[in-house]
This record gives sequence, structure tokens and C-alpha cells, in this order.
Amino acid sequence: MRVLILGPQGSGKGTQAKRIAAAHGMPHVATGDILRAAVADGSELGLRVAPILERGDLVPDDLMVDLIRERLAVEDGFVLDGFPRTVPQAEALDSMLEEIEKPLDVVLLLEVSDEVALERLVQRGAIEHRADDEPDAIRTRLRHYHALTEPVVERYRAAGMLVAVDGEQGVDEVGADIERALGAVGARR
Ligand code: ADP
Repeated sequence: MRVLILGPQGSGKGTQAKRIAAAHGMPHVATGDILRAAVADGSELGLRVAPILERGDLVPDDLMVDLIRERLAVEDGFVLDGFPRTVPQAEALDSMLEEIEKPLDVVLLLEVSDEVALERLVQRGAIEHRADDEPDAIRTRLRHYHALTEPVVERYRAAGMLVAVDGEQGVDEVGADIERALGAVGARR
């Protein structure tokens, strides 16, 4: 199964993506994790993206597309988390998946209000000390989400691929809604 999960920062996207991956035995391909690992390694990619991540800005599309192309080419199924974040990234994803004849089965959207998202991110910042969970970077990331990633959501909605889930519920309730959605996809295949 090929699953894309969308939602704003603080929607619980990473948590749910990990659960889906574990429950269905598929890899969790999370661009934020890949980029943070590159930063921790001090690789060439890491050095280049470190200041971008810290500000809460977006890494250039061409860099992200190359990164994800390499990764998805070797996977049959996956839970994709953190990509695409812009319409050009979504276009690139659609065409690369079409090329390798591995279309997405479903696009999940975790819906939460900005208030809830902000509250959760501030809490996470206090616990995990992620460089981009500082108030300024959080605001920048949410702004980018509304301006650049919401059009991606609308693109998949228009294509009839989107299943929206209420992300303000507890982790297990959200997980149950997601499993119902994935069950329906399995039944269609
Ligand atoms: P969050 O969703 O909480 O912002 P992520 O871990 O998904 O966290 O991403 C962290 C950072 O990594 C982003 O703020 C951005 O700088 C960079 N990043 C991740 N994925 C992408 C992408 N597809 N395009 C551009 N930048 C990205």
C-alpha cells in the first residue's frame, strides 16, 4: 500500500505515520527525519539545510525531489510524511510515481486548528528541544503550510484521493479512523 499523510505541523502526522508503518510493515519515509539525520551527520546535504530547518523555512523543491526520488524508487509500499509540501513537489511526485507505475492508494489529511497545532508544538518544543519548535519558527512553518501546502491538499481532494480525519481526537481515536480509511482502500484494491 502507498499512503501519503498530510496535515499541519502539530497535527500528529509523524505519530500516526509511525503507527501505520508499524501496523502494516511498511517503511515510514519522513523527509523531516531524513533531513535532521543529515544535519546530525554533518553531511554536505546536512550543512546546506541546517540553517533552513532552524528558521522553519522550506528546503528548495529540486533538492527535495531528488532526495525523495532516490528513496521511493527502492520501496514498493510506504507511508510518505513531509513530502510533498508544495504544488511543484506534488507534481514531481505524481509524475515519478506514474513513471515507476506505483500510484498512491490514498492521501490522508489530519485536520487540526491552528490553536491546537500551536499548543502542541510549544509543548513539544519544551520537551524535545527541536531547533524549529521555537515560537518564531513555528509561526513560519504554519504560515508556509497554509500558503504552500494547503494547495497540495486541494489538489488531492479534487482528484478524489483525500480522506480527512479529525486530528483533534486522542491518538488512538485518530489511529482507529485511519485504520478504517485504510481498510476501505484495501477493499477497493
Ligand atoms: P514539521 O512538519 O513539524 O514542520 P518536519 O519534520 O516534517 O516537521 O520538517 C522539518 C523541516 O524540514 C521543515 O520545516 C522544512 O525545513 C524541512 N522539510 C521537510 N520536508 C520538506 C519538504 N518536502 N520540502 C521542503 N522542506 C522540507
